[in-house]
Amino acid sequence: MAIERTLSIIKPDGVAKNIIGEVYSRFEKAGLKIIAAKMLHLTREQAEGFYAVHKERPFFKDLVDFMISGPVIVQVLEGENAIQQNRDLMGATDPKKATAGTIRADFAQTVDENVVHGSDSAENAKIEIAYFFTENEICKRTR
Ligand code: UDP
Repeated sequence: MAIERTLSIIKPDGVAKNIIGEVYSRFEKAGLKIIAAKMLHLTREQAEGFYAVHKERPFFKDLVDFMISGPVIVQVLEGENAIQQNRDLMGATDPKKATAGTIRADFAQTVDENVVHGSDSAENAKIEIAYFFTENEICKRTR
């Protein structure tokens, strides 16, 4: 299976709930390595740009308001099948439909505030990683 990279965000609700370590622990236990990370408080322009694919959707403004409501932690995860692995750890977009034991089932209550983001394809992972990180900010974990 291929080693992939994916972009993950712990959203403002996850940071506010103080579960950064819990989420990181799930990544690490699943064998995913954090190869870049930063905390930042997104500007409206950054959040709108990141979610530009959703700009015609009825929830767009609320989504942007939510994403700028507090700091987020953004990280690049690397590992075998990392994109799907991270999606599996996250669970379904709507936490009520998420499989038990997933991050969203365990920590989120609503579809709009659902704790984590994860890239959904190799193409989007590449775009989303480049949205937040330069190549210099991504570390090689060879030890
Ligand atoms: N979202 C929302 N209402 C909806 C659907 C989505 O607020 O009815 C938000 C939610 O935060 C979700 C994000 O928009 O995580 C992006 O939606 P997408 O369908 O890409 O889901 P994801 O890939 O995050 O599971």
